[in-house]
This record gives sequence, structure tokens and C-alpha cells, in this order.
Amino acid sequence: MYKKDKIVIHCKSCLMTNQKPFSINETKNKSSNQNKSTLQFNVDGICSACHSIEAKKNIDWEFREKELWKICDLHRSKKGKYDCIVSGSGGKDSMFQAHILKYKFKMNPLTVTYSPILRTEVGTKNLTNWVNIGGFDNYTFSPNGKVLSVLTREAFRNILHPAQPFKIGIKTFAAKMAKLFRINLVFYGEHYSDYGSAPTISDAYYPLEWLTNENELDNIHIGGLQVKDIKKKYNFLRDQDFIPYMPLKKKDFNDLNLNILFLGWFIKWDPQEIYYYSTEKSGFILDDYKSDGSYGRYSSVDDKMEYLHFYCSYIKFGIGRCRLDASQEIRNGHITREEGINLCKKFEGEFPIRYAQDCFDFMRYSFREANEIIDRFRPNHLWEKKKNKWKRKQEIF
Ligand SMILES: [Zn+2]
Repeated sequence: MYKKDKIVIHCKSCLMTNQKPFSINETKNKSSNQNKSTLQFNVDGICSACHSIEAKKNIDWEFREKELWKICDLHRSKKGKYDCIVSGSGGKDSMFQAHILKYKFKMNPLTVTYSPILRTEVGTKNLTNWVNIGGFDNYTFSPNGKVLSVLTREAFRNILHPAQPFKIGIKTFAAKMAKLFRINLVFYGEHYSDYGSAPTISDAYYPLEWLTNENELDNIHIGGLQVKDIKKKYNFLRDQDFIPYMPLKKKDFNDLNLNILFLGWFIKWDPQEIYYYSTEKSGFILDDYKSDGSYGRYSSVDDKMEYLHFYCSYIKFGIGRCRLDASQEIRNGHITREEGINLCKKFEGEFPIRYAQDCFDFMRYSFREANEIIDRFRPNHLWEKKKNKWKRKQEIF
């Protein structure tokens, strides 16, 4: 399924590799569809995410902040209405966005939440703190769990991507809420160029055409299947069960001059600084334990399924949660590459034991069935079985 280079290339600056989805090796693949890829490897062997952070050192942040003031001045409501949308579930990023927009830029954001698949305890506390301590109005939407269970089950079995249906749903959610409430400004957080797992964007605006799909519902893919085949397989499903996963149509934007902006384009985005800010201003709390597969306690801790999702990425691409966390910290100058390698040696690829059973139960797989599915997705160039144990190939250390 994944047409990847069989030779793993590690970025010389961080720990990312050319196996990351959407990544291309620029030296080999000049004709590839560049606008659909992010993590490019330059001739110097350094990935595009590292280059992007390097380039940011020359950005005039004062100028960019003034630009943001201008945009806010244009949109700020003087009639006691919501004037922008911040979507999130009480993670440190959404807490930071909403707070700085409201209290520094004097906007009146409506916060909206697309429920995680399986909310963690710390995630629940943080959502409550966001509303109660940060001080925001919030609409929370929860998609039908019976339908989501089926879609997640298929996504796990067909593409080893259990979070994919959730990600499809959340992708259009803020824009749908904007349409519903007639609010024409939506803020996203970190700019895509910073983390290299989504397409490249070279300015502040998220392109609306990425949210649209003119296909009929039956022809849309979810979890590796077309909707018409999902409906055949699970005959209790009806068209209306797919409403949360429906893409927008071009015409949906006709009467709404919607702008989706990355706040991270205007404000310097340092995950550690944002963590401190959200703790102080909105009561963001850390998880009690470090995350399985990494060392951190503050990133993506609101959904049990995320833990399994990161593990699946480790199996398919050899890129685990620790590598993602460490690479980001290397780029931001908080740790050295050596330290990052040592962290990966210690934590990368840990089985997500804490919530695995809950995730498997939700998808209605036994522990054994789920592990058999996982093993089917180990590519030959990344994994070999020795003495009945899986060993990684082409390791960095
Ligand atoms: Zn890099």
C-alpha cells in the first residue's frame, strides 16, 4: 500500500525519515506532486521541517503580529457576537489560541470541540478547565459512537489507521460550525510547515479546496473502503449516519466569505512555551504518566485511540511517537540530536499497553486478533522476524 523508498534516509538534523507519509526525496523525485507532500529531503540531507524552523529565525515576528492585529480589527465584533472559531478539545494548543485571541487581541472566540474517540481522564479535566478557567463558551459535538466503532474497526483492519475516520470528521468540523453560526473566521494553530505531516502551505491561509470533495457520498473512502461497500457490509448504516464525515461542497462556501488562518503564521510557535502559557492561563494539566512510546506527558493525551494511532505509525513507517516528539524538540533547540537518539532507544515503539484493551474493545477485536492485524502491516524493508521476535531494520543506532 505504501510506495516508499526501501532505503531509509534519516534527516541529518532531527530524527525524521523519508518513510513519513507524504514525504518525498527531493533529489530523486523532482516531478512528484509537490503540493501534496511536506517532508521533503533536500540535497543536504536535512528535512523540510528542519529547514522551515531554521528559516523562521529570520522572520520579523513583530511585523507578523501587526498583520494579525489588522485582521482582527477587520473581524472583531462590536455587536456582542462571536467573531471567530477555535476548534480543540482542551489541548495546550487550542487553549493557547483561544486565550491569546480573546485576552490579547480582544476577539470573542467561540470554542468548538469534536469529541475524541475515547476520551481520557486527563482530557476530560482539560476540556473542563478550558471552559471554566480559560473562560469560554463551547459547543461539543459527539459523532454517533456505534457508527464510529464500525468505521474505526474497518480503518484498523484495512489501513492500520484507527484514527482515520475521526480525522476525516474533525477535518471539516470547524468550517461546518463556522457555516452554522455564520462566523467567517476560523483559527488553526501550528503552521503546517512546522511539523511536516501534511501538505505544504506557504502563507497564513488554509486553502478551502482542501475541505471540499464533489464526489457522491457512496464513492467517498473511509477506512480504506468506499461508503457504498461499508453500507453493504453493515446493513444497519444509512446515508445520514455519515453526516459527520461528509466533505463540504464548493457551493457551501458561496454565501460565507470564510477565512481559515494559521495563528502559527503570525505568532512564534514553541510547544514548550505554549504548554507553560496554557498551564498558567487556562489550567492545562499534564497526564499523570508519560505516554506509552514516548517520554512526554502533554501532547495528544486527550484520546486513548491516539496512543494506538502512534503505535500503528511506528509499525507501518518506523516512525514512533518518541521520534516525533524528540524531532520537534531538537528543532526547537531544547534537546540535542544525541539526546533524541537516546530517548528513542529507550521509549520508541513501546506497546500502547495503557489503553490498548479499551481501543480493541471499542473496535470489537480480541487482543490476539488486533495483534495479528498489526503484524500484517510490518513492511519487509523495516521489519524482520528473528527467533519469533520482530526486529527493526535500518535503525538509526
Ligand atoms: Zn529534520
